[in-house]
Amino acid sequence: MLRVESISFAYGRQPALREVSLAVGAGEVVSLLGMNGAGKSTLLGIISGLLKPSGGRVTLDGRQISGSAPSAVVAAGVVQVPEGRQLFGPLSVRENLELGSYTRLKRGQGKEVARDLDQALSLFPVLADRLGQAAGTLSGGEQQMLAMARGLMARPRLLLLDEPSLGLAPQVAAEILGVVRGLPAQGCSVLLVEQNALGALAVSARGYIITGGRIRQSGTPREILSDEMLREAFLGPRRAQSLVVPTSDKEPQ
Ligand code: ATP
Repeated sequence: MLRVESISFAYGRQPALREVSLAVGAGEVVSLLGMNGAGKSTLLGIISGLLKPSGGRVTLDGRQISGSAPSAVVAAGVVQVPEGRQLFGPLSVRENLELGSYTRLKRGQGKEVARDLDQALSLFPVLADRLGQAAGTLSGGEQQMLAMARGLMARPRLLLLDEPSLGLAPQVAAEILGVVRGLPAQGCSVLLVEQNALGALAVSARGYIITGGRIRQSGTPREILSDEMLREAFLGPRRAQSLVVPTSDKEPQ
Protein backbone atom coordinates (compact mmCIF):
# COMPACT_ATOMS: atom_id res chain seq x y z
CA MET A 1 0.00 0.00 0.00
CA LEU A 2 2.61 2.58 1.11
CA ARG A 3 6.08 2.34 -0.37
CA VAL A 4 8.95 4.58 0.66
CA GLU A 5 11.67 4.07 -1.93
CA SER A 6 15.24 5.20 -1.32
CA ILE A 7 14.28 8.54 0.26
CA SER A 8 17.04 11.02 1.08
CA PHE A 9 16.65 14.36 2.79
CA ALA A 10 18.94 17.02 4.29
CA TYR A 11 18.29 20.08 6.45
CA GLY A 12 20.62 22.48 4.64
CA ARG A 13 23.86 20.53 4.36
CA GLN A 14 23.05 18.21 7.24
CA PRO A 15 21.76 14.85 5.97
CA ALA A 16 18.80 13.55 7.98
CA LEU A 17 17.72 10.57 5.83
CA ARG A 18 19.89 8.44 3.58
CA GLU A 19 18.20 6.17 1.05
CA VAL A 20 15.47 5.06 3.41
CA SER A 21 13.09 2.38 2.09
CA LEU A 22 10.15 0.80 3.86
CA ALA A 23 6.67 -0.50 3.16
CA VAL A 24 3.32 -0.74 4.92
CA GLY A 25 0.85 -3.31 3.57
CA ALA A 26 -2.93 -3.03 3.71
CA GLY A 27 -4.10 -4.27 7.10
CA GLU A 28 -0.72 -3.90 8.77
CA VAL A 29 0.59 -2.01 11.77
CA VAL A 30 4.28 -1.38 11.05
CA SER A 31 6.58 0.28 13.55
CA LEU A 32 9.52 2.58 12.86
CA LEU A 33 11.78 2.54 15.88
CA GLY A 34 14.69 4.78 16.70
CA MET A 35 16.27 7.05 19.27
CA ASN A 36 16.04 10.87 19.40
CA GLY A 37 17.30 12.46 16.20
CA ALA A 38 17.29 9.22 14.18
CA GLY A 39 15.12 10.77 11.45
CA LYS A 40 11.68 9.35 12.30
CA SER A 41 9.71 12.62 12.30
CA THR A 42 11.54 13.77 9.18
CA LEU A 43 10.38 10.64 7.37
CA LEU A 44 6.78 11.19 8.49
CA GLY A 45 7.05 14.80 7.25
CA ILE A 46 8.10 13.50 3.84
CA ILE A 47 5.29 10.94 3.64
CA SER A 48 2.69 13.54 4.61
CA GLY A 49 3.97 16.04 2.06
CA LEU A 50 5.30 18.63 4.51
CA LEU A 51 8.91 18.08 3.40
CA LYS A 52 10.20 17.45 -0.12
CA PRO A 53 12.81 14.68 -0.44
CA SER A 54 16.08 15.33 -2.29
CA GLY A 55 15.98 11.80 -3.71
CA GLY A 56 13.69 8.81 -3.94
CA ARG A 57 9.90 8.65 -3.97
CA VAL A 58 6.86 7.70 -1.91
CA THR A 59 3.94 5.86 -3.51
CA LEU A 60 0.47 4.90 -2.28
CA ASP A 61 -1.04 1.98 -4.19
CA GLY A 62 1.56 2.58 -6.91
CA ARG A 63 0.75 6.27 -7.31
CA GLN A 64 3.43 8.79 -6.40
CA ILE A 65 2.50 11.04 -3.49
CA SER A 66 5.92 12.56 -2.72
CA GLY A 67 6.02 16.07 -4.15
CA SER A 68 2.23 16.46 -3.63
CA ALA A 69 0.79 19.13 -1.34
CA PRO A 70 -0.08 17.93 2.19
CA SER A 71 -3.80 18.47 1.44
CA ALA A 72 -3.53 16.10 -1.56
CA VAL A 73 -1.84 13.47 0.62
CA VAL A 74 -4.69 13.73 3.15
CA ALA A 75 -7.21 13.48 0.30
CA ALA A 76 -5.42 10.29 -0.83
CA GLY A 77 -6.14 8.84 2.63
CA VAL A 78 -2.89 9.39 4.56
CA VAL A 79 -3.32 11.28 7.83
CA GLN A 80 -0.62 12.17 10.33
CA VAL A 81 -1.15 12.52 14.07
CA PRO A 82 1.78 14.71 15.04
CA GLU A 83 4.04 14.33 18.06
CA GLY A 84 2.94 16.78 20.76
CA ARG A 85 -0.67 16.39 19.61
CA GLN A 86 -1.20 19.94 18.29
CA LEU A 87 -4.78 20.24 19.46
CA PHE A 88 -6.73 23.47 19.57
CA GLY A 89 -6.58 23.95 23.34
CA PRO A 90 -9.37 26.50 23.85
CA LEU A 91 -11.79 24.56 21.58
CA SER A 92 -13.95 21.77 22.97
CA VAL A 93 -13.30 18.08 22.44
CA ARG A 94 -16.26 17.97 20.02
CA GLU A 95 -14.97 20.96 18.04
CA ASN A 96 -11.51 19.41 17.76
CA LEU A 97 -13.06 16.17 16.51
CA GLU A 98 -15.23 17.96 13.97
CA LEU A 99 -12.17 19.77 12.63
CA GLY A 100 -10.84 16.34 11.64
CA SER A 101 -13.71 16.01 9.17
CA TYR A 102 -13.98 19.68 8.27
CA THR A 103 -14.06 19.22 4.48
CA ARG A 104 -16.90 16.68 4.72
CA LEU A 105 -18.86 18.91 7.11
CA LYS A 106 -18.45 21.77 4.62
CA ARG A 107 -19.83 19.51 1.89
CA GLY A 108 -22.96 18.91 3.96
CA GLN A 109 -22.12 15.31 4.92
CA GLY A 110 -23.18 15.91 8.50
CA LYS A 111 -24.81 12.49 8.95
CA GLU A 112 -21.69 10.62 7.91
CA VAL A 113 -19.60 12.80 10.19
CA ALA A 114 -21.95 12.04 13.11
CA ARG A 115 -21.47 8.31 12.45
CA ASP A 116 -17.69 8.72 12.37
CA LEU A 117 -17.89 10.68 15.61
CA ASP A 118 -19.76 7.79 17.26
CA GLN A 119 -17.18 5.33 15.97
CA ALA A 120 -14.25 7.44 17.21
CA LEU A 121 -15.90 7.79 20.62
CA SER A 122 -16.46 4.04 20.82
CA LEU A 123 -12.68 3.58 20.52
CA PHE A 124 -12.02 6.18 23.21
CA PRO A 125 -15.09 6.16 25.51
CA VAL A 126 -13.42 8.57 27.96
CA LEU A 127 -13.82 11.33 25.35
CA ALA A 128 -17.58 10.78 25.13
CA ASP A 129 -18.00 12.15 28.67
CA ARG A 130 -15.90 15.20 27.85
CA LEU A 131 -17.26 16.48 24.56
CA GLY A 132 -17.88 19.96 25.96
CA GLN A 133 -14.55 20.24 27.81
CA ALA A 134 -11.75 22.45 26.45
CA ALA A 135 -9.12 20.20 24.83
CA GLY A 136 -6.31 22.05 26.63
CA THR A 137 -7.67 20.93 30.01
CA LEU A 138 -7.54 17.18 29.20
CA SER A 139 -4.88 14.93 30.74
CA GLY A 140 -1.89 13.96 28.59
CA GLY A 141 -3.37 10.55 27.80
CA GLU A 142 -6.78 12.01 26.95
CA GLN A 143 -5.13 14.57 24.66
CA GLN A 144 -3.32 11.77 22.83
CA MET A 145 -6.61 9.90 22.47
CA LEU A 146 -8.27 13.05 21.13
CA ALA A 147 -5.46 13.61 18.63
CA MET A 148 -5.84 10.05 17.35
CA ALA A 149 -9.63 10.29 17.26
CA ARG A 150 -9.36 13.56 15.33
CA GLY A 151 -7.04 11.87 12.83
CA LEU A 152 -9.53 9.01 12.42
CA MET A 153 -12.36 11.51 11.74
CA ALA A 154 -10.65 12.17 8.38
CA ARG A 155 -11.29 8.49 7.49
CA PRO A 156 -7.67 7.61 6.75
CA ARG A 157 -6.60 4.43 4.98
CA LEU A 158 -3.19 4.94 6.54
CA LEU A 159 -2.59 6.66 9.87
CA LEU A 160 0.90 8.01 10.63
CA LEU A 161 1.38 8.09 14.40
CA ASP A 162 4.34 10.04 15.82
CA GLU A 163 5.22 8.72 19.28
CA PRO A 164 1.68 8.26 20.64
CA SER A 165 2.93 6.79 23.93
CA LEU A 166 5.49 9.53 24.64
CA GLY A 167 5.35 10.80 28.21
CA LEU A 168 2.34 8.69 29.20
CA ALA A 169 1.98 6.36 32.19
CA PRO A 170 2.54 2.71 31.15
CA GLN A 171 -1.11 1.78 31.58
CA VAL A 172 -2.36 4.67 29.43
CA ALA A 173 0.33 3.95 26.81
CA ALA A 174 -0.81 0.31 26.72
CA GLU A 175 -4.43 1.40 26.28
CA ILE A 176 -3.53 3.62 23.33
CA LEU A 177 -1.34 0.97 21.71
CA GLY A 178 -4.21 -1.49 22.19
CA VAL A 179 -6.43 0.77 20.07
CA VAL A 180 -3.65 0.99 17.45
CA ARG A 181 -3.58 -2.80 17.23
CA GLY A 182 -7.30 -2.83 16.35
CA LEU A 183 -7.21 -0.16 13.62
CA PRO A 184 -6.44 -2.49 10.66
CA ALA A 185 -9.70 -4.35 11.39
CA GLN A 186 -11.45 -1.03 10.70
CA GLY A 187 -9.69 -0.59 7.37
CA CYS A 188 -6.92 1.66 8.63
CA SER A 189 -3.26 0.62 8.32
CA VAL A 190 -0.74 2.26 10.62
CA LEU A 191 2.86 3.44 10.47
CA LEU A 192 3.74 3.74 14.15
CA VAL A 193 6.80 5.81 15.06
CA GLU A 194 8.03 5.06 18.55
CA GLN A 195 10.99 5.12 20.90
CA ASN A 196 9.03 2.67 23.05
CA ALA A 197 10.28 -0.32 21.06
CA LEU A 198 8.71 -3.01 23.22
CA GLY A 199 5.27 -1.42 23.31
CA ALA A 200 5.28 -0.73 19.57
CA LEU A 201 6.49 -4.19 18.56
CA ALA A 202 3.84 -5.81 20.73
CA VAL A 203 1.13 -4.37 18.44
CA SER A 204 3.00 -4.49 15.11
CA ALA A 205 3.25 -7.08 12.36
CA ARG A 206 6.70 -5.80 11.36
CA GLY A 207 9.20 -3.19 12.40
CA TYR A 208 12.11 -1.15 11.07
CA ILE A 209 15.00 0.23 13.10
CA ILE A 210 16.38 3.59 12.03
CA THR A 211 19.62 5.12 13.31
CA GLY A 212 21.51 8.11 11.90
CA GLY A 213 18.98 8.48 9.08
CA ARG A 214 19.45 4.90 7.78
CA ILE A 215 17.34 1.79 8.14
CA ARG A 216 19.58 -0.70 9.97
CA GLN A 217 17.26 -3.64 10.43
CA SER A 218 13.75 -4.79 9.64
CA GLY A 219 11.66 -7.84 10.32
CA THR A 220 8.97 -9.34 12.49
CA PRO A 221 8.94 -8.42 16.19
CA ARG A 222 10.49 -11.80 16.93
CA GLU A 223 13.33 -11.24 14.45
CA ILE A 224 14.04 -7.75 15.77
CA LEU A 225 13.92 -8.75 19.41
CA SER A 226 16.12 -11.78 18.86
CA ASP A 227 18.93 -9.51 17.69
CA GLU A 228 20.93 -9.20 20.90
CA MET A 229 22.79 -6.07 19.84
CA LEU A 230 19.53 -4.28 19.07
CA ARG A 231 17.91 -5.43 22.26
CA GLU A 232 20.79 -4.07 24.29
CA ALA A 233 20.94 -0.83 22.29
CA PHE A 234 17.24 -0.19 22.84
CA LEU A 235 16.54 -1.69 26.20
CA GLY A 236 19.82 -1.82 28.09
CA PRO A 237 21.37 -5.13 29.16
CA ARG A 238 19.13 -5.70 32.21
CA ARG A 239 15.76 -5.23 30.50
CA ALA A 240 16.98 -7.12 27.44
CA GLN A 241 17.69 -10.17 29.61
CA SER A 242 14.21 -10.18 31.10
CA LEU A 243 12.46 -9.60 27.82
CA VAL A 244 9.69 -11.96 26.79
CA VAL A 245 9.69 -12.22 23.01
CA PRO A 246 6.15 -12.09 21.57
CA THR A 247 4.95 -15.41 20.22
CA SER A 248 2.21 -14.25 17.86
CA ASP A 249 4.13 -12.63 15.01
CA LYS A 250 2.03 -12.09 11.94
CA GLU A 251 3.90 -12.53 8.70
CA PRO A 252 4.19 -9.49 6.41
CA GLN A 253 1.63 -9.24 3.59
P1 ATP B 1 12.78 12.53 18.01
O1 ATP B 1 12.40 11.16 18.47
O2 ATP B 1 13.66 13.26 18.99
O3 ATP B 1 11.61 13.34 17.53
P2 ATP B 1 13.46 11.84 15.28
O4 ATP B 1 13.94 10.45 15.10
O5 ATP B 1 12.04 12.14 14.95
O6 ATP B 1 13.78 12.31 16.76
P3 ATP B 1 14.08 13.99 13.49
O7 ATP B 1 13.27 15.01 14.24
O8 ATP B 1 13.57 13.50 12.20
O9 ATP B 1 14.43 12.75 14.42
O10 ATP B 1 15.54 14.61 13.26
C1 ATP B 1 16.53 14.00 12.45
C2 ATP B 1 17.76 14.92 12.38
O11 ATP B 1 17.42 16.11 11.69
C3 ATP B 1 18.27 15.35 13.75
O12 ATP B 1 19.69 15.40 13.66
C4 ATP B 1 17.70 16.75 13.92
O13 ATP B 1 18.54 17.56 14.72
C5 ATP B 1 17.66 17.27 12.50
N1 ATP B 1 16.56 18.20 12.30
C6 ATP B 1 15.25 17.99 12.52
N2 ATP B 1 14.50 19.07 12.21
C7 ATP B 1 15.38 20.01 11.78
C8 ATP B 1 15.24 21.36 11.30
N3 ATP B 1 14.04 21.93 11.17
N4 ATP B 1 16.36 22.01 10.94
C9 ATP B 1 17.58 21.43 11.02
N5 ATP B 1 17.79 20.17 11.46
C10 ATP B 1 16.71 19.47 11.83
